[in-house]
Amino acid sequence: MIPPDIIRPEIAALSAYPVQSASGFIKLDAMENPYAFPAMLQARLLARLSEASLNRYPSADAPELKAAIRQAMSIPAELDILLGNGSDEIIQLIALACARPGASLLSVEPAFVMFKMIAKFCGLKYVGVPLKTDFSIHIEAMIAAIERDQPAVTFIANPNNPTGNCFDRTSLHRLITTAEKNHGLVVIDEAYFAFSRESFLRDIAQYPNAVLMRTVSKLGLAGVRLGMLIGRREWLQEFDKLRLPYNINCLTQAAAIFALEHYDALLLQAESIKQERSRLTTMLKQIAGLQPFPSDANFILVRVAAADKIFNALLSRKILVKHTSKSHPLMANTLRLTVGTPAENDAMISALKYSISL
Ligand SMILES: *Cc1c(COP(=O)(O)O)cnc(C)c1O
Repeated sequence: MIPPDIIRPEIAALSAYPVQSASGFIKLDAMENPYAFPAMLQARLLARLSEASLNRYPSADAPELKAAIRQAMSIPAELDILLGNGSDEIIQLIALACARPGASLLSVEPAFVMFKMIAKFCGLKYVGVPLKTDFSIHIEAMIAAIERDQPAVTFIANPNNPTGNCFDRTSLHRLITTAEKNHGLVVIDEAYFAFSRESFLRDIAQYPNAVLMRTVSKLGLAGVRLGMLIGRREWLQEFDKLRLPYNINCLTQAAAIFALEHYDALLLQAESIKQERSRLTTMLKQIAGLQPFPSDANFILVRVAAADKIFNALLSRKILVKHTSKSHPLMANTLRLTVGTPAENDAMISALKYSISL
């Protein structure tokens, strides 16, 4: 038994982030790129990894990796880069830095679940403003929440997870300028930038109170664990104080540098995922009783009549998707389908048709 009064009550009340075991399943639940690292590059990747000095601590500031990111993603020269062990770690660094007594963290709902969980880890009050029923941002309600709650930080994933859509640019601009007047930071999370037509990378320097987050996870390197924050030095140097030394291990650095030298190959995979997304959307629209929502990401949210039944029927056919129905009232009877390979998507479509016919 753990003695009372040791674990913070808000932590005791949390459940750990659920990761479902997927062995033996077609795995379409976690927005991974379904394609392996290009076969023709694998031998050279291994050669590069074998040069890593496992006996030494990794480069603490990772200048070589930052240069590779700057080059591949065309990061404007006036902006700095901070690296995290996945963008999850960056969310945590920002939340920790902002967690003054009574401070709050604002996001939309439904949003990426880690925003709310990390707010709790760090003792921030969490404020969630529901999206409209079409999943567009309710900008007037967001502005009212900023003026009322004065959040230290607002997190917006664009495209949004789990809904898949981008938000209207003018609304996001209004959100950032309202936050500025109310002394708040805005973090735009572009985890899905490779699948989207939108980015704030070109705009971020014009705002004194906005930073941009990206990750290589959805781009085909989820196992590498690397996320990045892009923004003005004034902000990044504060978050950097909280970063544990050597948070990016040497194998991650070596693998990411090599992968970013072949960024085109990763973007090519993203292009074929986008093509599959449109083929999959067309097939989903043809299934009676199933409504796919428009997506700018590598997943498609669908609404069905009976999500439990269909989720379980998919499981019995060894297909794992994400059951999102219980995450928020706006998500009732929804499933989130990651775009897989053409064969995986065909298998999912046939299993969906079968499960709806049950
Ligand atoms: C997947 C996801 C992330 C997590 O990225 P990691 O770099 O793998 O930690 C961050 N934000 C959103 C919105 C995501 O969907």
